[in-house]
Amino acid sequence: MPGEFDLIRRFFSDRLPPRRDTRLGVGDDCALLRPPAGMDIALSVDTLVSGVHFLPTVDPDRLGHKALAVNLSDLAAMGAEPAWATLALTLPEADEVWLAGFSEGFFRLASRFGLELVGGDTTRGPLSLTVQVMGMLPQGKALRRSGARPGDGVYVSGSPGRAGLGLKGRLKASIWADADSIDALELPEPRINLGLALRGLASACIDISDGLAQDLGHVLTASQVGARIDYDQLPLSPAVHQYVTASGDWALPLSAGDDYELCFTLPPHKVAELESRLSGSGLSITQIGHIEPEPGLRLLKHHDIHPLEVAGYDHFPTH
Ligand code: ADP
Ligand code: MG
Repeated sequence: MPGEFDLIRRFFSDRLPPRRDTRLGVGDDCALLRPPAGMDIALSVDTLVSGVHFLPTVDPDRLGHKALAVNLSDLAAMGAEPAWATLALTLPEADEVWLAGFSEGFFRLASRFGLELVGGDTTRGPLSLTVQVMGMLPQGKALRRSGARPGDGVYVSGSPGRAGLGLKGRLKASIWADADSIDALELPEPRINLGLALRGLASACIDISDGLAQDLGHVLTASQVGARIDYDQLPLSPAVHQYVTASGDWALPLSAGDDYELCFTLPPHKVAELESRLSGSGLSITQIGHIEPEPGLRLLKHHDIHPLEVAGYDHFPTH
């Protein structure tokens, strides 16, 4: 079994070419970073706990991907370009096969976005993974939650609910979960390029980690507006559509978390520019509703309008 320093050297140091704006990476007490003048740093951290955020049986390569992807998704939601990450690992044991798989998944995704792992911490205990990412943005260009205005369109990328159905599949609670749903759960794609394309266009943006209704709710609260969304406009995947029809669980695409798609608002006069920026990118976006002055979220379904309070995931529910 490798010791702590051996483990860091073998699995986490010098796996990718260093960035030119990194003065010092893994190996000293701190990393030293030098962002170019005029750039803001966007910083986010997320912890994944075994049994809470992932099933202990998940493939370590997929877990390495997801631990980084959920953080990159936060950078995407702000319109930031990935630059650096740190990784705090708590492991019950130094299992080399597990570490090889985990680090492979992590660095495969990191290399796609020119991200460098510049530090971390390695401790023994119940399996838990904390990744911190840092990205860069031209000053003042961040996509915040607070800018949505009445008349803006509400959009989502991809297809909400796929990861939620994937989780039902892994828990053997649905026969409708297909490979696409499982991949959405275990190999989420951070929408970095969409976030970059939205700079200067979207009035507000958030990534969907806790469910579309709840996360859109955060945008509405921060922007002091409301929204109407049209259930029939939701871009459901074939499997989610079949599941909803067969089970009657229509709320899944609105309440299930872990999708890591972006939900954003866009003034109508910016639509053409966004479409031209996205043409040929393969990224799909769909308008699902619009912002209204009256606070709250309303759902148009079967020609009726329902006030919507679909709860997403809450680690500390009060009832
Ligand atoms: P210190 O005791 O000074 O905090 P550590 O002994 O924890 O330093 O770590 C030694 C070096 O290895 C540091 O540069 C740290 O950032 C890096 N490091 C530790 N664990 C990891 C990890 N899992 N991934 C990447 N770098 C790590
Ligand atoms: Mg030290």
